[in-house]
Amino acid sequence: RRQYATDFSEKDKVAKFHGQKGSDGLYTVSLIEGDGIGPEISQSVKDIFAAAQAPIKWEPVDVTPTLKDGKTTIPSETIESIQKNKVALKGPLATPIGKGHVSLNLTLRRTFNLFANVRPCRSIAGYKTPYDNVDTVLIRENTEGEYSGIEHVVVDGVVQSIKLITREASERVLRFAFQYAEDVGRLKVRAVHKATIMKMSDGLFLGTAERVSKDFPSVEFDAELLDNTCLKIVTDPTPYNDKVLVMPNLYGDILSDMCAGLIGGLGLTPSGNIGDECSIFEAVHGSAPDIAGKALANPTALLLSSIMMLRHMGLTDHAQRIETAIFDTLAEGKSLTGDLGGKAKTHEYAGAIIKRL
Ligand code: NAD
Repeated sequence: RRQYATDFSEKDKVAKFHGQKGSDGLYTVSLIEGDGIGPEISQSVKDIFAAAQAPIKWEPVDVTPTLKDGKTTIPSETIESIQKNKVALKGPLATPIGKGHVSLNLTLRRTFNLFANVRPCRSIAGYKTPYDNVDTVLIRENTEGEYSGIEHVVVDGVVQSIKLITREASERVLRFAFQYAEDVGRLKVRAVHKATIMKMSDGLFLGTAERVSKDFPSVEFDAELLDNTCLKIVTDPTPYNDKVLVMPNLYGDILSDMCAGLIGGLGLTPSGNIGDECSIFEAVHGSAPDIAGKALANPTALLLSSIMMLRHMGLTDHAQRIETAIFDTLAEGKSLTGDLGGKAKTHEYAGAIIKRL
């Protein structure tokens, strides 16, 4: 059975090593448990890692926001912890809609310059979906685009939001995508864009992609319009199984949720926010306030994110062992959580994984 493409090292190449090993042989990882279902799913990760004797020491950090000079900031101890440890695992954080503090997810990405968001989606044996062969890898620019946070009222009833695209941020994420393609041996990169309409901004992204592609002759490059990608991927995802898709921020946010839908929903999809200095791994889903505190949450997405994290740190043996236990538990189908049609509580599912370690 194929393994899940959560890694940066399918061919045992570690693209980038991050992490600080202590004198006790353990790596300290900053842990943001998050809101809503965050503490419940974080507990599953902690229990499973302890049972698997993964050499990780968790350092819990607080991200309660404060407003400083009109800007949302997170406590300085948290910033120091993540800078020191280089690696963090993060549960979902709730964001107020239309008012209040800036998204803490955005704040974290900006604070640590986590410029690339890697989102793999692969069909899971044992969970029936319209297609059983989905295997997409999407890399999303993570710092600008429509998410640059520049908005203002022009006159009453008219608001302007700025989509910001820079050559520098585009080039950074595009180089990362091509390098990733080489590292994992997935040698086709496709840029997804809308340069027919946003001729200047997406045009800059696309032009940069064409230029960067010349530096990676072993990787095939092409481009596709976003609407076309959406139509084709839900009609037949197979042609996307050998490609790395790379795109500006908002497109990546939406398209990756669509891919998640193809494999059974947000409870199953991991992600890594990668920067030059540190990286934060997190589930794609939010804090699920509708099921929080009821032991109904599926911790798989956060678990798979933690496996991406282990591989990123070069701890491939532990990653492999835990991943196999997760997929065997899902394939057996006896201990699934409610979102996958089962009756297991969060901790019962985690317990079933632990039994297989
Ligand atoms: P959501 O992902 O929290 O929930 C959407 C639906 O999916 C809900 O029905 C929920 O019960 C279900 N779901 C999500 N994760 C699940 C899991 N692990 N197991 C089982 N079911 C799960 O999205 P939302 O309701 O739009 O957002 C809620 C809050 O989360 C908002 O404040 C939003 O800003 C925040 N959010 C945070 C992140 C993040 O931290 N990266 C991402 C998305 C949303």
